This record gives sequence, structure tokens and C-alpha cells, in this order.
Amino acid sequence: MENKKVNFSEWYNEIIDISGLSDKRYPVKGMNVWMPYGLKAMQLIDNLTRKYVDSMDFQEVSFPVLITRGQLMVEFEHVKGFENELFWITKGGSDKLEEDMAMRPTSEAAIYPMFSLWVRSHTDLPLKVYQIVNVYRYETKHTRSFIRIREIHFFEAHTAHATYEDAERQMSEYLSIWKKLTDMLCLPYLVNQRPDWDKFPGAKYTLAFDTVMPSGRSLQIGTIHQYGTNFSKNYNITYALDDGSHEYVSQTTFGMSERLLAAVISIHGDDTGLIFPPDIAPIQIIIVPIPSKKMDVASYGVGILNKLMDMGYRVKMDNRDAYTPGYKYNDWEMRGVPMRIEIGAREVENSHITVSLRSESGKKTMKYEEFFENLSEMMNSIKETLTQRAASTMRDLTVNAAKIDDIKDLEKIVKAIWCGSEECSRKIEEQTEMACLGLNQESTETGKCIVCGRNGTTGIFARTY
Ligand SMILES: [Zn+2]
Repeated sequence: MENKKVNFSEWYNEIIDISGLSDKRYPVKGMNVWMPYGLKAMQLIDNLTRKYVDSMDFQEVSFPVLITRGQLMVEFEHVKGFENELFWITKGGSDKLEEDMAMRPTSEAAIYPMFSLWVRSHTDLPLKVYQIVNVYRYETKHTRSFIRIREIHFFEAHTAHATYEDAERQMSEYLSIWKKLTDMLCLPYLVNQRPDWDKFPGAKYTLAFDTVMPSGRSLQIGTIHQYGTNFSKNYNITYALDDGSHEYVSQTTFGMSERLLAAVISIHGDDTGLIFPPDIAPIQIIIVPIPSKKMDVASYGVGILNKLMDMGYRVKMDNRDAYTPGYKYNDWEMRGVPMRIEIGAREVENSHITVSLRSESGKKTMKYEEFFENLSEMMNSIKETLTQRAASTMRDLTVNAAKIDDIKDLEKIVKAIWCGSEECSRKIEEQTEMACLGLNQESTETGKCIVCGRNGTTGIFARTY
């Protein structure tokens, strides 16, 4: 297997292939096949997302994939932002369609014409919906599994509120949902306000969640957007006030994709393979029996299997005859199963269970009861280890820079005092090839811009995916 630190890109492609997450041999460029193991992991991420947004009174919807040219053209900034990324459908059978239709690159243009029908009075507000669907973008850059693709597995939440203040509260709610989700995935991130020239097309402002990949390049893994009334004015989404007049709603969105899975793979994995955080591991516990002539290993194993299943764990017993226990250990380690149980004659004889955690080296033999008493604690310790390791790697891959010369040829995330001007960010970009990710929201440091010397706050710069 490739060395992750030395050859991250090759390591990434190899692990996705051999662990059975995705098959990129499908004949449409940038559209890959979700394999069962990868799909299961993504569905587990989706289920966590559903749980959190449902608890905040969001409702799930499913909109059609096609958007008419007319629907799209309503919001000019938005269309302009996506015009080079659209797939168009122009024919039905052999007939030319009366109106061309685009495959959604995101769903503002699909959802907001309906919002304008649904919202009548303030009692219809807030309106909070989401969908988890595929969106389509004609990517011309080099495609990469789960990172840059043309058919994207997309979560998008859309809200409408009576006032801008309500919409701002929604932005804070997104931040708390995001924290819960990334805690489960054990992922570190920065919250950066994208500069105006790089915000979502049509948004008032964009907050992006950026993480750091082992290559030192940043990966945007989620975004939330404050639209204010930019879209509602164009799509005519209003509610009636008591005096009969109408007010435009304020809107927000929250978007993320399988890039979350890309981050999990890349940040937690090692030279042995994947490491899944327990909450999204397709298999949380693998039981490997070590065949014995004198003891009934299998039925002892099945007892443990059934008990774990009753407790709600995703658990499997590897009964493949053709492979040795050693082969099986390696195989499940490569697939990132967080916990392995070994059952041999000695374990059966003494009512013991031998456990090893994918996040640590070594194994531990404990009494049957002791294992079940400690199980949830062991799962938590895996999460803690992954969280701390990821945070420490991110610290290692982040530098504070006092001048541009410090960061030339650097493969890291750079924090630098920046005045916020496009001019200074362009200068940094020209000399370092680093993009400006915007102003860091978690940092309160102030000082002099490293380019022009004017007053500034912490800006984030990085090579990006
Ligand atoms: Zn400056």
C-alpha cells in the first residue's frame, strides 16, 4: 500500500479502490459507482444529518432534477455563477424541447418558485426544508473520487424567515448542527467567511467549513449561506403583513456532500488502510473466529454476535473458510473496522474476549462480562483518539506567517493578517499559488496586513482541492 504522507494522492485512490468504496471505471467521466461499502458509510452520514436537522424542525422534500431555462434565469448572479457548469437537456425523444432544461447544479431555482406559492402569511414561516439528492456539475478540472465529480451526492437545506434577524439565528443553528455532525466524524475544521468575490453566487455572505488534507491542501467540506432577500426579491417570495402589505422573506441555505466522506478517509486513514469513526462505520465490530479442534469456537462467537446485534451494533462474523485469521485481520484493518474481536480455544475455555481497536496498536484479553461493560467506553476512546490525532495533524499543517516570503512553496494552511482587500489577496495568490479562503471566524487576532501594512485580521490562505 502507498505511504499516505509521501504519496497522498496515490494512497487516496488506492484505498478507495481496494476497500470497495467506489468504482471509477464507469464510462461517464466524473460519475462513479457507489459500491456497497462506500454507500453504506455515506448513508450513515446522511442518517446523522437527518437526525440533527429533523430535531431542528426541518422537513425533508424531494424536488425534480430538471430546471427550466426560465426558472434558472430569474436570479442573474446565480445563473452567471453556474453557467459554465450546467448540463443541458434539449431533446425529448427526437423532438426538440420547447424550452431547454438544465440538470440541477444546486436547487435554488427549483425550490424557490415553489416557495413563492407556499409562503402566504407569517404563519407559514419559518419554512425549513432539506433534501439529499444528486446534483450535476460539468467539472472541467481533473476529477477525483468524492472530491471533484460531476454527479454529486448533495445535502441542501433551504429556509425562509420573516426577518433578517431570524435568518441570522438560522445561521447560528447551522453552526451547531455542523458541530454535532463533525464531532461524530471526528473532523477538525476552520470557519472562514469567503471573500465577496468568492461567495456563493447570489448570497449576501458565505461561511465555509474548511479542513486540511494530509497533502497540506484545504478541502471545503460544507458551506452555509445568508441570502437576505436577494433570492426572494427575484423569485417573489413574500408574506402578507396585517395591514395588507407584503414583505420579502429572508433566506439561508446549508450545503454539503460526499466530501465529508473524502475527509474521513483522508484524515483518519493510515498506511494500513481506512479507519472509520464508530458512528459511521458500515461494520463497527468484526468477529474473527480462530478455528480449533477441541473447542466449539463458532457457537461462542455466534453468542457474542447475537448479543452485540441486540445491543444495536453493526457487527459481522467473518466465517470465510478460504482465509486464515491473519489474512482476515489485515483485510478488516484495511477496511477500517473500528473494533476487532478474536475468538479462539483459549477465549472459549476461559470465557474471555480478545479485543483490538483499529485506532491503537496491540490487543487486550478481557473477561466476557468485562468486555460488555467496557464496550461503549472503548468505542468512545476510538472517537477521542481519532479526534485528537486529527486536531494535532491540523495544527502541524497550519502555520502563522508574518510575510509572504515565509510561505512560498509551503504545502500548508496559512494564517496571516490580511486587510481584506482583493488586491492584497491577489498578490499572495500570485506569489504563492495559494487561494484566499477568507477571514477566519474563530480568530480574534488583529495586526498589520502582511502585504500592504494596513490594519487587518486573520485571513486564511491555502492551496485548495
Ligand atoms: Zn493588505
